[in-house]
Amino acid sequence: MKTLIVDDEHLMLELLSHQLNTIGDFEITTSTRAQDAIRMVETGGIPVELILCDLQMPEMDGVEFIRHLLRVNYAGALILVSGEDARILQTAETVARASNLDVRGSLQKPVSISALSEVLLRDGKRSSVCAKGKARKIYSAEEVRSAIAEGELINHYQPKVELMTGAFSGVETLVRWDHPQDGLVFPDQFIGIAEEYGLIDSLTTAVVSSALRQLRQWMADGLTLHVAINVSMDNLTKLNFPELISNQALVANVPLSSIVLEVTESKLMKNPRAALDILARLRLRHVGLSIDDFGTGHSSLAQLRDIPFSELKVDRSFVHGARGDPMLSAITESSLKMAKQLKLQTVGEGVEDQDDWDFLVASGCDLAQGYFIAKPMAAEALSEWAVDWKSRT
Ligand code: C2E
Ligand code: CA
Ligand code: CA
Repeated sequence: MKTLIVDDEHLMLELLSHQLNTIGDFEITTSTRAQDAIRMVETGGIPVELILCDLQMPEMDGVEFIRHLLRVNYAGALILVSGEDARILQTAETVARASNLDVRGSLQKPVSISALSEVLLRDGKRSSVCAKGKARKIYSAEEVRSAIAEGELINHYQPKVELMTGAFSGVETLVRWDHPQDGLVFPDQFIGIAEEYGLIDSLTTAVVSSALRQLRQWMADGLTLHVAINVSMDNLTKLNFPELISNQALVANVPLSSIVLEVTESKLMKNPRAALDILARLRLRHVGLSIDDFGTGHSSLAQLRDIPFSELKVDRSFVHGARGDPMLSAITESSLKMAKQLKLQTVGEGVEDQDDWDFLVASGCDLAQGYFIAKPMAAEALSEWAVDWKSRT
């Protein structure tokens, strides 16, 4: 593996080279100057596959170094090394990951051989950072409007299960656009446009109507489930929103108490009084209210104080990887503890592996949702998944 080590201290260069040579077959180049290292990447004949980089260098700090790596389109892996405390190292790692570099991890000085080999064995985190693989297309308001009108929006459903028993307790509805040319388009590519151009009410109506009809079908099949639906803050401006939900439930013949509305405040509330009025009246009708993405943006303590939520969803950025990460575990555990004191049901989202699952069980969380359990799927796939899941648990 063609490897470049960058550190202003000669001793560190020697030490790391020695350690790498003990572990495996590395073709090592070293540099005490970050500028030289960047030049090597930029002009080097053979592409560098791995860089170990010190965060504190006199002429260029690690974060700046990362910026230059991006500029020269560095495509290899990166390991950060620092004598600073873990928190600073982690921040630099976050910067690098956010810019989509293939960060294998970070190491605190003095670096041990075992820590170094552990990081080297790690897979690149690229896949989970990257977008869904397809090129992002910008859609016009007219295209989104016609998609809603033509019934091109379809719901996918992601299971939520009880952590204590494994029981399948509900689903979250996630809208997709079944685009005639582009295939399945994900909500981050059209929800924002719908909000901006006044189309979110008709979008939500379409999503709610088909989710509640689907719930009716599942109930007929003998499944007792809660169905969660995402609502935008922009849905909470018209005072008749509770009536709209009630009418839809009546038409579909499903109880209001089996509906959960997930609310994220991605931007400032335009009309907090109206939103509060609407949410309070929904709760009076026993519709569940969930504070989504808790801990991010404006999904905050003030909302928790003012709005009669019945459920709290800890954002996936705090759940995945919480085990073994003191920062994430502190945030997740205290959010869950607070939710318990407020008598809210708790959901951990972004459960991607057994460690995430075990962590939530140990933290006393009620429900789990994430790829470890199931990815969002078409309604027809759900009963087969449920049988499968039962045998897994
Ligand atoms: P969200 O409410 O936070 O939904 C969860 C998102 O996380 C979904 O992305 C889901 O596919 C993804 N996810 C689930 N499990 C995992 C996991 O284990 N790991 C990772 N990395 N991701 C996981 P999706 O479907 O792309 O939805 C994105 C967002 O779009 C949703 O975020 C929600 O805010 C919004 N959205 C979806 N449907 C609707 C809708 O009908 N109305 C409105 N207003 N917003 C919607
Ligand atoms: Ca949600
Ligand atoms: Ca969420």
